[in-house]
Amino acid sequence: MTARPPHVAMLATPGMGHLIPLAELARRLASRHGATATLLTFASTASATQRAFLASLPPAVASLRLPPVDLSDLPRGATIETRMSEETARSVPAIAEALTKMETTCLVAFVTDIFGTDAFDAARAAGVGRRYLFNPTNLHMLSLLLRLPELDASVPGAFRDLDEPVRLTGCVPIPGAYILSPLQDKGDPCYRWMLHHAARCREADAILVNSFDAVEPEAAAVLCRKQETGRPPVYNVGPLILTETDTKSSPRAACLEWLDRQPARSVIFVSFGSGGALRTEQMRELALGLELSGQRFPWVVRSPSDEGAVSDNYYDAESKEDPFVFLPEGFVERTKDVGFLVASWAPQIGLLAHEATGGFLTHCGWNSTLESLVHGAWRADGGMASHQNAVMLAEGIGAVIPVPEPKRKETVARVVKELMAGEQKGAAVRATVAELQKAALEGLGEGGAATTALAEVVEKWAT
Ligand code: UDP
Repeated sequence: MTARPPHVAMLATPGMGHLIPLAELARRLASRHGATATLLTFASTASATQRAFLASLPPAVASLRLPPVDLSDLPRGATIETRMSEETARSVPAIAEALTKMETTCLVAFVTDIFGTDAFDAARAAGVGRRYLFNPTNLHMLSLLLRLPELDASVPGAFRDLDEPVRLTGCVPIPGAYILSPLQDKGDPCYRWMLHHAARCREADAILVNSFDAVEPEAAAVLCRKQETGRPPVYNVGPLILTETDTKSSPRAACLEWLDRQPARSVIFVSFGSGGALRTEQMRELALGLELSGQRFPWVVRSPSDEGAVSDNYYDAESKEDPFVFLPEGFVERTKDVGFLVASWAPQIGLLAHEATGGFLTHCGWNSTLESLVHGAWRADGGMASHQNAVMLAEGIGAVIPVPEPKRKETVARVVKELMAGEQKGAAVRATVAELQKAALEGLGEGGAATTALAEVVEKWAT
C-alpha cells in the first residue's frame, strides 16, 4: 500500500436513511483504519437538512454533489425506488467521471447502496478495484432481495395475495401483505427495478449490512457465516448510527429542553422516519390515541399524505404545509402539558438518547430501529404500512409491540400504555431491548463483531 491513506468513494442514493449510515461507515473507516472517503450525493436531495449534515462530517469524509439529471419524463406517480434507480442509471457517466478524478487519491473501493447497483458500471469504467454493496437495512431484507428472482418465478401474482407467508432460510416467515411495498405490484416499473438490483447485487465483491447478529441471529448464521456459490460474502458491520454528539446543535433544540424538564423514562417519542407521512385519518387516530394514553410525548408531526405516491418529505425532509393544522380540533390545547409537537424534523438521536425517553412509537424504519436499540428505547410499531421489519422484530426476537390493525385511538392508547408500564408484553419488550442494547454496543467496541467484520473487509485492500 502507498503512503497515501486508502480512499473509499461511496454513493448515497436519496434519503437520509441511506446517507446517514453510509457517512457513519465512512467515519468508522477513517477513525479505525486511517482511510479517507468521498460521499457522492444526488442533486435531487440537496436539502438544507442534508447540506447541514454533510457540513458536519469530519475532514476525512468529503462530499461531492453529482450534477442534476433530468427526471421530468418519469410519471408523477413514480415511486421513490424508481426515481432513485433512474437517477443512478442516468448519472453513471457523471459518477465515472467523478471517480476518475479521484485518481490523485489511493482509491481502493467503491460502495453503493442497493438502489445504486448500476453505478458498479461507473466504478468498473474508472478502474476501481473493489466494489461493495451497502445494505442500509437488515439481513432479512437482503435475503429477500437475493431470492427475489426465484420468488418472481414461483409466485405468479402479488405477494399480498399469498395464503402462506414467504419463508426464507434463517428468516422469520413474512406474511405476503407485509412484504415491502416496492415488491407488491409486478406491473410497476419499481418492481422491475428491484429485480434488476437483485441480479446486480451479486456483482459486488462483498455486501456490507447495517445489522448485528443478536437482532437476527438465524439469518446471520446463514448469510454471514456460510458461503454460497455465486453470492458475495456478507458482513454485518452495524449498527451504524449517528453518535449523539453529532446532533448537539447550538442553540439546543427546544424539544430537548422540554425533555430536560420531564422525569426519567417517562415519555414516548413519536416519529415515523424521514418520509413518514401518515394518512389524514391515521394522523387523527394517532393524536387521539396519544391523548387517551395520558402519556407524555414529543411528536414529530408531518403533513398527512393520502396519495401514497412519492412523499416530498423524503427528498427534502421538510413539510411544505403547516402540519399542525391537520391535528384534531382542540388537541394542541388539551395536550399542552404532556405533549411537545415538532414540525417536520427533530434531532432524533438526541431525543432517543435523552434519559427522559422511555418508549418510541415508530414506523420500524431500520435506522430508527437501530438508533432506538443502541439507546435502549422500548419500541412500538405504529407506522402507516405494516412493515416487514416490524414482523421480524415482533415475531423473531420480541423487540417491538405492533399496534394492531386497524390502528384506532383505543389500540394506540392500549399499546402505548403497555409499552411504557405493562407487566406482560411491555415488560418482555423492555427486557429484550436492554439485551439488544448491550449486544449492539459490545459489537461496536474493540474486538466486537462489527469492528472485526469491518477489519476483515479492510484487510483485503492490502492484497
Ligand atoms: N430522522 C431524524 N429526524 C426526524 C426524522 C428522521 O433525525 O425527524 C432520522 C432518523 O434518526 C433516521 C432517519 O432519519 O436516522 C430515518 O431513517 P429510517 O430508516 O428510520 O426511516 P426512513 O426514513 O428510511 O423510512
